[in-house]
Amino acid sequence: MNLNFASDNTGPAHPKVMEAVLRANDHAAMPYGNDPVTEAAVAAVRAAFEAPEAEVAFVATGTAANALALSCLVRPFESVFCSRVAHIEEDECGAPEFYMGGAKLTLVDETDGKIDAGDFAAKLTAAMDRGVHGAQPAALSLTQITERGATYSLDEIATLTGIARDAGLATHLDGARFANACAALGCSPAEMTWKAGIDAVSFGGTKNGCLGVEAVVMFDASHRRELALRRKRAGHLWSKQRYLSAQMLAYVQDGRWLEMARSANAASARLAKGLRAMPGARILHEAAGNLIFAELPRAAHARAFAAGASYYLFPGDTPLDGDPETPVRCRLVCDWSKSSAEVDALIASWAG
Ligand SMILES: *Cc1c(COP(=O)(O)O)cnc(C)c1O
Repeated sequence: MNLNFASDNTGPAHPKVMEAVLRANDHAAMPYGNDPVTEAAVAAVRAAFEAPEAEVAFVATGTAANALALSCLVRPFESVFCSRVAHIEEDECGAPEFYMGGAKLTLVDETDGKIDAGDFAAKLTAAMDRGVHGAQPAALSLTQITERGATYSLDEIATLTGIARDAGLATHLDGARFANACAALGCSPAEMTWKAGIDAVSFGGTKNGCLGVEAVVMFDASHRRELALRRKRAGHLWSKQRYLSAQMLAYVQDGRWLEMARSANAASARLAKGLRAMPGARILHEAAGNLIFAELPRAAHARAFAAGASYYLFPGDTPLDGDPETPVRCRLVCDWSKSSAEVDALIASWAG
C-alpha cells in the first residue's frame, strides 16, 4: 500500500509513458530534437493548446521551464510580479533571477496562493513611478493550481492579466499542476491561457505521470530563436531529446494528461471528505485540485507515521512526541496513481 502523500512527484510514471520511452529506444534518431518523435510531440502540444504557431520546448525540470520562459520576457533591469509564496520565489534557489540576468521578483500579497488584484495594481503603480531608480515592471507570473492548492477561475486570470497587459507587461503561468487545474475547472488549455491573456506557460508533465518532462509554451513565436539559444546555454537542450519528447507525446495523446489529473483530483476530493468528517481536523485553504493543506492533532500524525504514511508537516521539524491534542499543519498531495483504498488507509491511520 502506497501511503506516500508527500508530493505528486513521489508517484510512479504512467505505464503508457514508460512504453513510449521504450518505443523511442528501439531505433536510432537524429539528436537535439531533430527527430520525428519530437516533431509529433510539439504538434500534439500545439494542438492541445489550439495554438498552431506556438513555440514549444521540452526541458527536464519545472524550474528550468519557469526560468527559461521568464528569461525570454524580462531583461536584467526589469521585474516580475509574483505571489509571496510563488515557487519561483521560494523554491527555485534564485534560478529565475539567474536566468533573467539579475532581474527582480516583486512580491504581491496572496490568499490561498492567489495574487490579490488590488495589491498587484497598487504595487505596479508604485513601481511605475520610480523612473530609472526602480526595476522596470515587465511581467506577471501566476501559478495554477497555486502553491496552496487553490485555482484561479478563468475570470480571475483574465482580471490579473488585464491589469498586467494594460501596463505593457508580459504574462507567465507556472503550470506544474496545469492538468489538475484544467480538470478542476473543466476548461480547455486555451481557455486557461492565451484566451485569458497568458503569453507563456510552463506546462507540467513530471508531477502528473511523466518521468521528467515539462514544456515551455510561448504563444508569441517571435521568441523562438531566443528560447532555443537560452535553452542550449542553460544546458537544457538534451542531445537525446526524443526521450523527453516521447514522454510528452504519450502524456498529451488521447487526453491521458487530463485523465490522470482527474484521477488525482478525485483521490484528493475523497481525502478532503475524510478530513471534513474527522474530529479535530481542519482544511486550511480552498482545495480544488490534488493538493490539500490541513491541520490535525499531533497524535493523529504520529499514528499515521507509525502506520507507514509519509507527508510533510509544517514546520518541518515539528516533534511528534509533544501534547497529543496540539494542531499541527501538513500538506497532502495525491498523484494520478493514488487509489481509493490508499486514501481510506491514510484516513484510517489518523483515527488509529
Ligand atoms: C514542482 C513545481 C515546480 C517545478 O519544480 P521542479 O522540481 O524544478 O521540477 C514549479 N512550480 C510549482 C508550483 C511546483 O509545484
